[in-house]
Amino acid sequence: MTDIIQLLPDHVANQIAAGEVVQRPASVVKELLENAIDAGATQVTLLIKDAGKTLVQVTDNGSGMSMTDARLCFERHATSKIKSAEDLFNLHTKGFRGEALASIAAIAHVELKTRTEASEVGTKITIEGSEVTSQEAAVVPKGTTISVKNLFYNIPARRNFLKSNPVETRHIIDEFHRVALAHPQVAFIMLNNGSDVFNLPLSNSRQRIVNIFGNKTNEKLVPVEESTEIVQVKGFVLKPQFAKKGRGEQFFFVNDRFIKSPYLHHAVSSAFEGLFKDGMQPGYFLFLEVDTKSIDINIHPTKTEIKFDDEHAIYAMLRATVKHSLGQFSIAPVLDFNKDSGFDTPYEYSKKSPVAPSIEVDRNFNPFQKEAKQGNIAFPYKREKSPAWESLYVGLKQDVGIASSDLDNIEFESEEVTGRLFEAEAEATGQITFQLHNKYIISPIKSGMMVIHQHLAHQRVLYEELLKNITVQEAVSQQLLFPLLLQFTKQDIEIIKKVREQLEHTGFIFTKMEAEQLEISGIPVSIIESKAESVLEQLINDIKEEVPDAGYSQNDLLAKSMAKSMAVKTGTALNRAEQEHLVNQLFACKEPSVSPNNKPILVTFDVTDFDKKFM
Ligand code: ADP
Ligand code: MG
Repeated sequence: MTDIIQLLPDHVANQIAAGEVVQRPASVVKELLENAIDAGATQVTLLIKDAGKTLVQVTDNGSGMSMTDARLCFERHATSKIKSAEDLFNLHTKGFRGEALASIAAIAHVELKTRTEASEVGTKITIEGSEVTSQEAAVVPKGTTISVKNLFYNIPARRNFLKSNPVETRHIIDEFHRVALAHPQVAFIMLNNGSDVFNLPLSNSRQRIVNIFGNKTNEKLVPVEESTEIVQVKGFVLKPQFAKKGRGEQFFFVNDRFIKSPYLHHAVSSAFEGLFKDGMQPGYFLFLEVDTKSIDINIHPTKTEIKFDDEHAIYAMLRATVKHSLGQFSIAPVLDFNKDSGFDTPYEYSKKSPVAPSIEVDRNFNPFQKEAKQGNIAFPYKREKSPAWESLYVGLKQDVGIASSDLDNIEFESEEVTGRLFEAEAEATGQITFQLHNKYIISPIKSGMMVIHQHLAHQRVLYEELLKNITVQEAVSQQLLFPLLLQFTKQDIEIIKKVREQLEHTGFIFTKMEAEQLEISGIPVSIIESKAESVLEQLINDIKEEVPDAGYSQNDLLAKSMAKSMAVKTGTALNRAEQEHLVNQLFACKEPSVSPNNKPILVTFDVTDFDKKFM
């Protein structure tokens, strides 16, 4: 019998291995940036074209490579960073496997230009699909430039699998942030299709954070610092009032390497306990230094997870340190959402009922008409009726309009006494809806009772309205007396720019869009000025997290996101007129029963269900 086992040719083995190291252009960015840092560079420039799909190029002023090394660095397991297995337990560099360049060279067109300080001429090598196609002496500056072109050119399946350019660019920026944050002593420039995205001079850690995330970040930072025998912690957490709903800025670095650690995240989150509402997430930039022998960074191929020997001790220490910092900057005692805010009300105001800010403005408002009431949901006193809404009331009353006097037509099949009590109450207040726990609106219907989730109901109403405005492009704006100036990071402004048109159709008027600032002179009628910023912030967050492609899905995401942040919150008291208006608006919707995110908005209870309980 003939032998059937064959060794895979090198280039095939390299292609297979490449799959592990290089998932997308951002993986190339990470490897090249880390190599530049390992080479001792103080100035690193990253250039990408078409989200890195056609070009990722990194130039550094580091050590450079000799001609032999330049040739060798593309060989599998060629690394200058470990010499024996022992070294694996004492790593101070980012790379050590000697896999990255070999993998990248297997699936792209790569050009390397490099020169060491000691040699006068450098080397230029081109390599395609692991084959060296040229090698020559070249006059190049000290340091290294590696250009990776046409990633996955020989693996069309992988290339087709890549996401849209905005998504891939987002991944690249994430990697860039991680390396740049860990190395403030290195200057970084990032260019995207030739235009400047980041220009980060060498600085300290705080300045680096501010240079990346915008000037506004500076005042949000609370320093954290502590040192014990097993770990040294430095960095910043964001003040609790800047907690976000999405993940936002959460960075752990261990020995200057970005890592993900749900366990340590939990430690930090628990230090914030009680400082913000459930569902919010803290922001942090935390740099841990531990003995290299006490960690194992080898457990994950892309090396973003590590294992600590002393996990529990690090958890406890981190939690205590963050708590201490928050306390020291007297942030902790000021904010306490768990406390009943009623206790804080000055005496003379304690008897007055609070007036929540209005969240919707009457479009038919006419200053010359008699003043309309401002409440949580302002509205024209006009009822939008719809068959869906009406049918629930058929048989309950003759007239479908829910006028105050109609309620005494309702027949209660209960005991005499109770019935009379209710009628008396109804006559006095004309109430047909009422609010339970500032969360649900309860309304009697023909078959029994309907319970409506106020926040989800309002989301549905706003969602359909926003979507309509975006698609039919009929902007209705409230002009602001003074333009609103909002600070955002550069990347966030970029995101706003991408959805600018749609936002304008909802009613936003942008008068300026600068590097880190927006000037807004008009906002949608259904939000109040003070909420405009948080609506945009939430939107940016949602876009970052979902990154939809242009077109319908983007409009949908935008409408969903805005509806969610604009909708009246659970916990808001609504007066009767507001409750009724919301219910009417809801039943004028195309899909009144499910929220934009497919949660049920209302449930009904049959009278017979109640009857059974009284048997
Ligand atoms: P690793 O970083 O795990 O050693 P790589 O494949 O990323 O493996 O790189 C292989 C080797 O090539 C490195 O160990 C280093 O000696 C050399 N090298 C790579 N990039 C650079 C660079 N920008 N400057 C100097 N040397 C480099
Ligand atoms: Mg490397």
